[in-house]
Amino acid sequence: MTEFVAERPARAGHAEHAEAGMGWIGSGIEAGAESLVRELTGRERDLPCFVRHEDAGGKCDRNAVVQVYGLKFCELHGTEARTGALKELYEDAREFMQRLDNPHVEPPNAAVLAIVRDTASMLLDAQKKDEDAIRRAYPVIPERVEEDTQDFDYEDPNPRSGPVDWNSDLRHLVHKLMRLAFEQRATWLVESLELDRKHVTAQLSFALADCEEKVSGPTV
Ligand SMILES: [Zn+2]
Repeated sequence: MTEFVAERPARAGHAEHAEAGMGWIGSGIEAGAESLVRELTGRERDLPCFVRHEDAGGKCDRNAVVQVYGLKFCELHGTEARTGALKELYEDAREFMQRLDNPHVEPPNAAVLAIVRDTASMLLDAQKKDEDAIRRAYPVIPERVEEDTQDFDYEDPNPRSGPVDWNSDLRHLVHKLMRLAFEQRATWLVESLELDRKHVTAQLSFALADCEEKVSGPTV
């Protein structure tokens, strides 16, 4: 089964992290991720997946196996929710630490710089996994693809941001809001935001497929 949660202990010391083959800060971020993502066990797995949006094909009949922001998901939808949550978390960490790695500030020492760049590398890895998970979790439903996506012209001589960028930016924003709401224990708000997250994530999946087809031609 997909590995949903970090394996490293949340409060292990430097030596344990070194044995696990990870940098200290990398493990720190993984520990942060543990608060957002939890694998379900025992009777918890009798509960249904939270997904029910029409852009996702309606109510999901699979049992939940993982919890993200406190909401329960099946393996397919949980993998997508997990990668999206981690991507937002790593991006937030990277933005914070990049204040130390830019030409306008005194360079930090080599150890700090390595930590900053390690975080950027984890983000890149999360981004790659995220797109795959999105496309698996939300296959294209032609009648649900928004008109702005259907009508977008990638051959426009004056290129501008397109449906992939719009939906990706919106999804990132909703993930950030969900993380903040989850940290404040505002469960009702997390549940409400998840409906928006489903919509923009499905539309992002549709836009990725639409862009690929228009730019590269239909896949056989
Ligand atoms: Zn599901």
